[in-house]
Amino acid sequence: MILLTQLFITLTPFHMPEKKYWRCTVCHDFHYGAMAPELCPTCKQSEKYVEATKEELMQAIGL
Ligand SMILES: [Zn+2]
Repeated sequence: MILLTQLFITLTPFHMPEKKYWRCTVCHDFHYGAMAPELCPTCKQSEKYVEATKEELMQAIGL
């Protein structure tokens, strides 16, 4: 039990996770958060999110 707790602490960063933009590679839906969503709310595909760059985001909103 102690070992498991130590492992958890090791794997958990102390700082707040940095939020990023994620892009669904299927429907190009954007998501903002610390983690990519497991399931895309738009196209219902799982694990299709990749980290989006600022350029991709600006392109998507037409800048
Ligand atoms: Zn999608």
